[in-house]
Amino acid sequence: MSEFFFEVRTFAAPMKSNARQVGAVTESFRVGIDSQPALRHQSHMKLISGTAVAEKVIEECRREIAELATAGKKPGLAVVLVGDDPASRAYVRSKDKKCRDLGLHSVKLELPASTTQEELLAHVQSLNNDPTIHGILVQSPPPPHIDEAAIVRAIDPAKDVDGFHPINVAKLALEDSSGFVPCTPLGCQRLLIDAGIETKGANVVVLGRSMIVGKPMALLLMAKGIGGDATVTVAHSRTKDLPSITRQADIIIAAIGRPEFLKAEHVREGAVVIDVGINRVEAPDTAKGYKLVGDVAFDEVAPKCSAITPVPGGVGPMTIAMLMANTIKACKQS
Ligand code: NAP
Repeated sequence: MSEFFFEVRTFAAPMKSNARQVGAVTESFRVGIDSQPALRHQSHMKLISGTAVAEKVIEECRREIAELATAGKKPGLAVVLVGDDPASRAYVRSKDKKCRDLGLHSVKLELPASTTQEELLAHVQSLNNDPTIHGILVQSPPPPHIDEAAIVRAIDPAKDVDGFHPINVAKLALEDSSGFVPCTPLGCQRLLIDAGIETKGANVVVLGRSMIVGKPMALLLMAKGIGGDATVTVAHSRTKDLPSITRQADIIIAAIGRPEFLKAEHVREGAVVIDVGINRVEAPDTAKGYKLVGDVAFDEVAPKCSAITPVPGGVGPMTIAMLMANTIKACKQS
């Protein structure tokens, strides 16, 4: 998928953040620096490569799958798609491919758009009862006649690798580690940890309050322990004077679904910015006629940051990697 493509851009900025920086410059950015002699001395800026960290997570998954194999276990993931939305179809294909690459048992159920609520519930029930399946995911959004919340509630919480079932939402709030955390915020937290960005005591602003990204992200960051212990502010479309709030942040997580919304005026010097957004915008000069951009105006924000994720090649690849990790966890707990 194109979101896995990683583009190196060259920029540099002094580090003034309270967020502690301990990791090295990512390998991809080092390539950028080495090819630009004038930038070699300005190595504080870190471009956080989600592609590289996702590969690390996948390697960890490989090791765990091998261990499970010695115990006669093989994790299985079922992905259910209703309808023929091209973007959803592409996501489902890439999840199925990643499973197969890893040697996981993968079931891809492609159902017609005319599938009824009852038929879909029956499929979910059958997957709940299938001992070879440890993770179940129903690709969002389903057609409008489907009650998505009811489908999520029908998934066995022990197989809910998306982490959307109320039981898993509650477990996240309760800091019960047996639950499943939604893959995208889990991936963002892993990026911060891997990049050596200290969240303990940091002021973090999460931009967006969706159940898929914003809310679970805030819960993860305020939880006790590594990758948590932050002081979290959640902003949304009703927030007043957003720039004055985001400028207080050591770390900003942008998840609002508006192309290049976060501008330089929102960010203070030395902040860390994680860009969750994936927005398709017209680009007549490109072969496809469109390009993917994040929720952050990268070119103006990046020079102010001590670390930032690109789009593509940032949070995107982490989501699927964490889905694999959640499926393995579900298998281990079964
Ligand atoms: P969503 O459900 O549409 O939620 C967007 C949130 O942003 C809402 O809480 C909304 O506030 C808030 N918001 C919208 N406009 C705003 C504004 N002008 N100022 C402040 N807040 C504003 O979106 P989502 O599912 O969380 O996804 C967010 C972005 O992440 C999208 O670009 C999506 O494509 C991307 N995404 C990426 C991945 C990945 O794998 N990288 C995974 C999931 C999502 P209200 O609640 O007040 O409406």
